Amino acid sequence: MSNGHTDPPGEFKNFKIAVLDGGILLAGFDYSGKPVNVLNVESMSEWQKVVRYAEQSPTVKAVVLVSVKEGNFCAGADLEQMHEAQRQRSFQEMEQLVITAHTLFDEMERSLKPFVAAVEGACLGGGLELALACHARIASTHPKTCFGLPEVKLGILPGFGGTQRLPRLIGLPAALDMITTGRTVFPRQGLRMGLVEGMVTSIPSSIRTLENIQKETFVQAAIAQARARCSAPVRRPPLRASLRFFSSPVIRTLVCRYARHQVIKRVRHFYPAPLCAIDAVGRGMGLSVLEGSLTVEKPRLLDLMASQISSHLVGLFLAGEKVKRNVASVPAAVTRIGVLGAGLMGSQIAGQLTEKGYEVVLRDVSSDILANAIGRIHKAQTTQVRKKVILPSDLRYRMMRVSPTTHVKDINLASLVIEAVSEKLDVKRAVLAEFESEAHTDAIFATNTSSYTLADIAARAVHPERCVGLHFFNPVAKMQLVEVVRAPFTSDRALAQACGLAKRLGKFPLVVNDGPGFLVNRILSRYLVEAVIMVGEGISFQRIDTVAKNFGMAVDSGHPMGPLELLDLIGLPVALHVLTSLAVLGSRIESRDALLRQLLPENSPPVTFWKSEKENPEALNAVAYYHRANPSETGPISDDILRQRLFLPMVDEAVRCLHDKIVEHSWEVDFALTYGTGFPAFRGGLLNWARQTMTKGQVAQELESLAAKYGKRFDPCPGLSQGGW
Ligand code: NAD
Repeated sequence: MSNGHTDPPGEFKNFKIAVLDGGILLAGFDYSGKPVNVLNVESMSEWQKVVRYAEQSPTVKAVVLVSVKEGNFCAGADLEQMHEAQRQRSFQEMEQLVITAHTLFDEMERSLKPFVAAVEGACLGGGLELALACHARIASTHPKTCFGLPEVKLGILPGFGGTQRLPRLIGLPAALDMITTGRTVFPRQGLRMGLVEGMVTSIPSSIRTLENIQKETFVQAAIAQARARCSAPVRRPPLRASLRFFSSPVIRTLVCRYARHQVIKRVRHFYPAPLCAIDAVGRGMGLSVLEGSLTVEKPRLLDLMASQISSHLVGLFLAGEKVKRNVASVPAAVTRIGVLGAGLMGSQIAGQLTEKGYEVVLRDVSSDILANAIGRIHKAQTTQVRKKVILPSDLRYRMMRVSPTTHVKDINLASLVIEAVSEKLDVKRAVLAEFESEAHTDAIFATNTSSYTLADIAARAVHPERCVGLHFFNPVAKMQLVEVVRAPFTSDRALAQACGLAKRLGKFPLVVNDGPGFLVNRILSRYLVEAVIMVGEGISFQRIDTVAKNFGMAVDSGHPMGPLELLDLIGLPVALHVLTSLAVLGSRIESRDALLRQLLPENSPPVTFWKSEKENPEALNAVAYYHRANPSETGPISDDILRQRLFLPMVDEAVRCLHDKIVEHSWEVDFALTYGTGFPAFRGGLLNWARQTMTKGQVAQELESLAAKYGKRFDPCPGLSQGGW
C-alpha cells in the first residue's frame, strides 16, 4: 500500500491486510478457492492471528474488516466441512471451531481497540456473528447487502454466539424473530432496528484490490467510525428502554413462550432447531455472552448438528449450490426480455424481471388485461416499499422498466422471450410463429408451459434450436425452483441463456429433459390424482389433507397444505388440463375427469374443495352426486394406507423419471420435489425418505399389495426393486 503505512505481519491465504495512516488495520476477507467467504478451521485460525496481531501491535489502534469479494461479506460457516462431519459422524473438528470462534469473538468484543465491520453483500450466519462481535457495523446499500441468521433452515442454531449477542443488540423480540425464522434483513431495516450503525451508498470497485476497496465510500465511513471510536472509550450504547423491558426475567419467559407458540404454529414439531434456539436465547440472557455461548449455545448446536434432520437440510442446501454451479457459464448478459401473456404467470414473471433490472416488454391481447397486470405488479412492488425493502424511487424505476403492449412486433429488440400465454396448444404454436417472424434472429423462445412438451410446441418451428422451456412455479416470487427444459433440438446457447436468466432471478435452474409434465408435475400428478380418487371413494376432504399435513407437506412454506387445498390453489381447470394431458404416460395417471368435471360447472367459477377453511358444501354435494352415480366401496382404511397411497406412487413415478432420463440423479429428484412441490425438507427429499424408511424391495412390495387391493395404477415399475435410485 502507499506511503505512511506500517508493514503488516506475514502473508495470509484468506485475508489481505494493511495498516493505514492513524493505525487503522484494514483486513480484507478473501477466502481462497471459493466464490464466497466462509468460516472454517483454516480461515478462523488466520483471523485469530490477525486479531492477536492487532491486539499486540502498538501501531494498530483500530481494525476495519471488509470483504474483498463483491456482493459477499461472509456466507458463514463452511457447510461442505460441516456436511462432511455429518457424513463421517465425527464432530471434534467442528466443536474445536466453535470453541475457537467463541473465545476469539469474545476477545474482539472485549478489546479496547475498536473493531468495525464494513459490510457489503450478504452477511449471513457465522458472517453476521463475526460482524456482531465487532463494535460497530457500517452497511453499504449494494443490492446484495443483507443480514441474517439462517441456521434454523439448516436444522441448527446460530453457533458462533449469535443467540447471545443479537438479543443484546436489537432486543429480544426482534432477535427471536430473526433467529427462529432465519429471515434476512436489508440495510434500511437493519438501521431502524439498531443492527447497523450506519448505511452508506457506495459504488463497488470493479478491480477488487484492498487499495481500491479502501477508497469506497462505505469503507471510508467505517474507517472514520473506527477513528472516532479510538478517541472515545468503546462501549456499547445501552439498549433502548422498551427493549430492556423485554429482557427482564419474567417478561423474557413470556416472550420466549410466545416465540415457541409462533414456531409451533408455523412448523409444528417437525423442526427442533428453532425451539432449541429460543431456549438458548432465553437461558443465555442471564449469563455473560461467553458463558452463554459455551454452556448454553454450544451443546445445543452440537446435538442439532448430529441430527438426521440437519444432515438432510444441509444436503439439500448443497444440492442447490450444485444446481447453480452446474449451469453452463452464462453468455453475455441479456438486458431486454419479452413476456408474452400478462395473466397470472406472465405478470408475476414480468415483476420478477424488472426487480432484477431487466427491461420488459409485456404483451397481451387487450389493454384491459395489460392494465390489470400492471396493477398487480405495482401492488407487489408497493408491498416492498411498505416493508422498507426498497425506496419509492426504486418502485418508480421498476415500473418504468415494464412496457405493456398489444403489438407483437414490439418484442423485436428482446434477446429472450418468455411465453406465458393460455395453455392451449394452437395458441402456443401461433405465438411461436409470431415470435419467429417478429423477433430478432438470435432471440431465444422460452415456454412456461406446464402440460405440453417442448417438442409439441416447437413441432412446426422453423428454428427449433432457439426453443427451450423455462417452467416457473406459482407463486413466482416465492418458489425458488425453475425447471429449464431441454429437448434434443435445443441449442446449448438457448439452454445457457435460459439457465443464466433463471440464475440471475435468484432461482435454482434445474435442467430437465423434455417429456410430459417434465419432472415435477409428472411426479406430483400421481399424488394429486390419488387424492381425487380418495374423494371419489367417499373419504373426507379433511382426512385426506390432514394425512398429508401430518406427513409435513408444505410445512416449509409456513402454510402446511394437503393435496386438495393444493388443487384449489392451482385451480381446477389448470389441474384438470395437466392431469388429462399426462394420461399419455399410461393408465396409471387416472385423471378422474368425471369427478373433477362435477366441480367445474359451465358458465360459473370452479367449485373449490375448501371454502373459508371449511369443507365446501357445494363440493360435498357434487361429490355425493358423483358417488351415487359411481358407487365404490373400499371398506375401512387406516391413515397408514392413505399415506402409502399418496406417497408411494410418487416414488414409483420418480424412479420412472430416472429411467426415462428426465434427470440423471436421484438427488435432483429430491431437490426438485422439495423446492417445487412442498415435499418436507426435513425428510431429505422423496427418494431419500423412501430409501431411509424402507428397502427398495419393500417399496415394490407395498405397491404390489396396494395394486392388489386398489387397482393396477399402483403396479410398481420394473426398475423399482432393482435399485439404482
Ligand atoms: P392465464 O390464463 O392467467 O394467462 C394467460 C394470458 O395469455 C391471458 O392474459 C391471455 O389473454 C393471454 N394470451 C392469450 N393469447 C395470447 C397471445 N396470442 N398473445 C399474448 N397473450 C395471449 O394463464 P396462466 O396461469 O398465467 O398460465 C400461463 C402459462 O403458464 C400456461 O402455459 C400455464 O400452463 C403455465 N403455468 C401456469 C401455472 C399456474 O399455476 N397457473 C404454473 C406454472 C406454469
